[in-house]
Amino acid sequence: MIKENVKRIMETLPPGVQLVGAAKTRTPAEILEAIQAGLTIIGHNYVQEAETTFEAIGPKARWHMIGHLQSNKAKKAVRIFDMIETVDSFKLAKAIDKACRNMDKSMPVLIEINSGEESQKGGVLPADAVSLLREISQLENVRIMGLMTMGPFSGDPEDARPFFQKTKALFEDIKKANLPGVEMKYLSMGMSNSYRVALEEGANLIRIGTKIFGERDYSR
Ligand SMILES: *Cc1c(COP(=O)(O)O)cnc(C)c1O
Repeated sequence: MIKENVKRIMETLPPGVQLVGAAKTRTPAEILEAIQAGLTIIGHNYVQEAETTFEAIGPKARWHMIGHLQSNKAKKAVRIFDMIETVDSFKLAKAIDKACRNMDKSMPVLIEINSGEESQKGGVLPADAVSLLREISQLENVRIMGLMTMGPFSGDPEDARPFFQKTKALFEDIKKANLPGVEMKYLSMGMSNSYRVALEEGANLIRIGTKIFGERDYSR
């Protein structure tokens, strides 16, 4: 099933769009099956769990951090991930920068936008994004490459559209501003139920879990 799911989704993606397989709670065997079907990017939410899975699978795919990252886990995250999609504070960016410096690495990051302006959600408020970008762009070992957003949770994908539009508009504004050290290449938006809407609104990275791997079972 996983193989068919990956192939079916990839066939429908417009050119230039990359699929991130959101792999929280999935076993190494399930993830390997997705990789064999052509998935090239694994997304993970939890550093600890990603580490275990990474040891089992190795660098057969690129790894993106898509969950909230605490600064004190930056060092571990830098070891595993090829991109961190959820940078939302200067403190976290500095911790990533420091970990990279010690490992002689440079980390591509996306800035997470709290497009729904929800108090309990991660991400920087749209109005604060540019000043955060300016600060982070000073760091030598962190490369800003785009934006990511979740949007408020809803059962109806149409409800996500205004938040995707808002994030895309911000993406284009920042691109036009041509800030030194800031590249706007990736726009990560959309999950299983909302990725079609996200694609219509300009996403070029989509993060899909359930539609690839089936319903999540948190009890196992
Ligand atoms: C779990 C997760 C996804 C994928 O969710 P599905 O609804 O299973 O497709 C995408 N993005 C993030 C940040 C996630 O945590």
